[in-house]
Amino acid sequence: KMDGPDDKPKGSVRVCIRVRPQLKREVVYRQVVEAVSDKVVHLLRDGSIVEAHFDRVFDQDVSQQEAYASVSDAVEAVTKGYNSTIFAYGQTGTGKTYTILGGSFTGKESVSAARDEPPSASKLGGRNELPKYAGIIPRAADELFQFAQQSALKAEKVDVFCTYLEIYNERMHDLLEPFKKSRKKDPLDVSRKKAGLELRDDPERGIYVPGSTVVKLTSAQSLMKILRRGNKHRTVRQTEMNQKSSRSHTILQLSVEQKVNRGDKAVLIRSKLNLVDLAGSERFPKMESEEERIQEQRTINASLSALANVIACITEKGRDHIPYRDSKLTHLLQELPWWKLPDDNCGDCLA
Ligand code: ADP
Ligand code: MG
Repeated sequence: KMDGPDDKPKGSVRVCIRVRPQLKREVVYRQVVEAVSDKVVHLLRDGSIVEAHFDRVFDQDVSQQEAYASVSDAVEAVTKGYNSTIFAYGQTGTGKTYTILGGSFTGKESVSAARDEPPSASKLGGRNELPKYAGIIPRAADELFQFAQQSALKAEKVDVFCTYLEIYNERMHDLLEPFKKSRKKDPLDVSRKKAGLELRDDPERGIYVPGSTVVKLTSAQSLMKILRRGNKHRTVRQTEMNQKSSRSHTILQLSVEQKVNRGDKAVLIRSKLNLVDLAGSERFPKMESEEERIQEQRTINASLSALANVIACITEKGRDHIPYRDSKLTHLLQELPWWKLPDDNCGDCLA
């Protein structure tokens, strides 16, 4: 649940669509999607035009900053103790990684309009130094650290931790494994790595991944450095559409711990921002032959439809069973009901 700045609820689930500019090599094709207003797009399907409605539509000339502004209330909600998740969904090549991470994390293909190439190196300092092509993650991290700085002025402590996980073929892997300080040479490690990490439910911590690396962040810059290194471990395969296409879901979890003063009590508030770059939603590419890849896409589609089911159940009123356990991704993102709102005298009492 999110509340807008004017305290009007904006709804628990919102779907925005972003039309990306055509790439240079695509200009020979007709554009298949066109933004006609800030809520409606026209899709070209089998020669006819289909109208589709969304909570928000972004045309191709919407900047990274504007795209972020449309989801920044989900980040703000996290500073107030709520949990939020932002997904990037779409076929390979539609701009998921560009939107969620930023231009310097995608392949170097130029777009048809007179735009510059994204810079390969990004400098990330205070808010004003965010590179133009920075996506949602660096902007969200920047916002969380601004919040931490403001809290420090009030003698309140805010810590931000991150985990970076990948789900490939329904197996979960730790993208920050190489960051672990105390990596023991355990012969079991190799087989464990293959089998993937487990999920556990814990009444104190909620759903968690035992053994996954948790890094305490010191700045938005440190996060970007970590992500760049973590990304080297992503499972990428070549597809017809995009050379660097990703066949896995990646989930960045930013956990925020606030030690705030409520009257004469110190209270700990925990909340989480999940930022998810989903695997390509394409149906089977026509040329598909390799058995392994068909199986891979089948797993991706099963997990995407499990996610769609969960979202549908959440948005339908009066549903008491939500099938979170149908996939690794939805299970990971499930929150146990004991998470309470900050105004409700929530959190563990430290005093
Ligand atoms: P996906 O992650 O969905 O496979 P990418 O984010 O890698 O797709 O985007 C595919 C290509 O399109 C990349 O070269 C990327 O830089 C470019 N691109 C995507 N969205 C935009 C945008 N809004 N503006 C400019 N270029 C974009
Ligand atoms: Mg991608």
